[in-house]
Amino acid sequence: MTDILARLTQIILPRRVWYRNFYLRSDHWTRTAAEARVRAGQRCQRCRTAGRLDVHHVVYTHLWREYPVDLMVLCRACHKKIHRRRR
Ligand SMILES: [Zn+2]
Ligand SMILES: [Zn+2]
Repeated sequence: MTDILARLTQIILPRRVWYRNFYLRSDHWTRTAAEARVRAGQRCQRCRTAGRLDVHHVVYTHLWREYPVDLMVLCRACHKKIHRRRR
């Protein structure tokens, strides 16, 4: 999805809906997440498992201009655990 569309929908949609359905599908995020996976060596930063990896936001304050430390590369299991612990 183009960044323009993702930026336009950011203005009108509730944040959580927008984040899941638009931001995570934007060209910017596709690129940013791919770079994060390369930096992590294509492995989970918590348990070192390779395979299907999510890129988790440690903080959400720098959307569109994330710093490397804002992101964590996690396998599905570790990603779920992190969100469960926070809630
Ligand atoms: Zn893991
Ligand atoms: Zn997450």
